[in-house]
Amino acid sequence: MTDPVDLLVAGADLVVTMDGDRREIAGGWVACHAGFVTAVGGPGSDPPPATRVLRADGCLVTPGLINTHHHIYQNLTRAYRPATASSLFDWLTTLYPRWALLDEEASYVSAWVGLAELALGGCTTSTDHLYVHPAGGGDLLSAEIEAARDLGMRFHPTRGSMSLSQKDGGLPPDSVVQDDDTILAASEAAVARHHDPAPGAMVRIALAPCSPFSVTPDLMRRTAELAARLDVRLHTHLAEDPDEDAFCLETYGCRPIEHFEACGWGSDRSWVAHCIYPNDAEIARLGAWGTGVAHCPSSNMMIGGGGIAPVAAYRAAGVPVGLGCDGSASTDCASLWLEARGALLLARQRGGPTSFTARDALELATRGSAACLGRLGELGVLAPGAAADLVAWKLDGLSFAGALTDPVEALLRCGPTSAHHTVIAGRPVVEDGELRATGIADILTRHRQAAARLQGLPL
Ligand SMILES: [Zn+2]
Repeated sequence: MTDPVDLLVAGADLVVTMDGDRREIAGGWVACHAGFVTAVGGPGSDPPPATRVLRADGCLVTPGLINTHHHIYQNLTRAYRPATASSLFDWLTTLYPRWALLDEEASYVSAWVGLAELALGGCTTSTDHLYVHPAGGGDLLSAEIEAARDLGMRFHPTRGSMSLSQKDGGLPPDSVVQDDDTILAASEAAVARHHDPAPGAMVRIALAPCSPFSVTPDLMRRTAELAARLDVRLHTHLAEDPDEDAFCLETYGCRPIEHFEACGWGSDRSWVAHCIYPNDAEIARLGAWGTGVAHCPSSNMMIGGGGIAPVAAYRAAGVPVGLGCDGSASTDCASLWLEARGALLLARQRGGPTSFTARDALELATRGSAACLGRLGELGVLAPGAAADLVAWKLDGLSFAGALTDPVEALLRCGPTSAHHTVIAGRPVVEDGELRATGIADILTRHRQAAARLQGLPL
């Protein structure tokens, strides 16, 4: 008799594996042990004995969704009235002084809230782009990693940075930038302290200068060199707004993606957020480099102006495309389910009804996002050897009544919905629709205090 595995997810209506053959198994099951998937099967094969069985009756089971772009701390300034009708640059300049008040407590509670919210929406791995490190604010990166550990979330925070302040021709004020040497030393220290290169890693660090208009070209170059030396990934914002094109042409004499290339970032070590405004030659170059794109559908629509990332052209050019929810103001609702649905709608708005399906959207949220993080095969698929990260979506009730023929299309066309179970590294983080972690009320009180302090409001 074989030894029991530690978790069996059984009884699903359909298991969508997203494996190399894109197998979909009616009546499927997934066996997990020590944090990894050990076997996937259907009614024709007996599952192994298991210490624990998690029922997924009436559920669609998919790989866990992966968030490739976020600024979690911004949930401290959600729907912030002074900036709700601003352009990107005006919104940023309104909020930089608020974010200058970040501290470790604010970082911890915002990460706890943001990651819990994501887990409830079916996300199992999230990145975070934390680019504000005010003097005296403490170790914000370690504080958010502690929150991810407390929740059991797989986490890829980035050591973000800004070094080009207004006095040097950049956008942010002095209060939220650091000098290049300080940033590079902190980046190296963060990797040494937190980055785990092993398979199944729960924490990996990437380096992430914020954008062409908030860091010096020298910091971009030196960060790329440091990432290569430490063998970690690179992340930044790119081609997000027409104002950025104008800034780069005026400041650097070239377009944003040319600037990116000139700084040594054109590689498969990099993934970039948004990338809404490339020209055709730039799409081909991104594909040749293997640079990934974090597509942020809600952000595309909230920033507006008609800019939609050219997802179909990226995929045709071989660009890995993942999904990101982005921070508040772009998306005050952090749900990868919502972003997958947004990707479906935006792609069809752009390319017509035969151009993009729910399976394509789900592929962005799983395989595409895993590729952006350099973990395709380990994350984003349900296959032996992959991390045991999965979601069971219960397709019942009023929202799904009548959806009898295609549960994958139903998942993104019906709803809104959230996860019934979210399993990360073989451990349920959300079970029967409820977060397993306790203490939500206390965290929300602390979050409200931190948010009020940043917003300058009485408690
Ligand atoms: Zn962003």
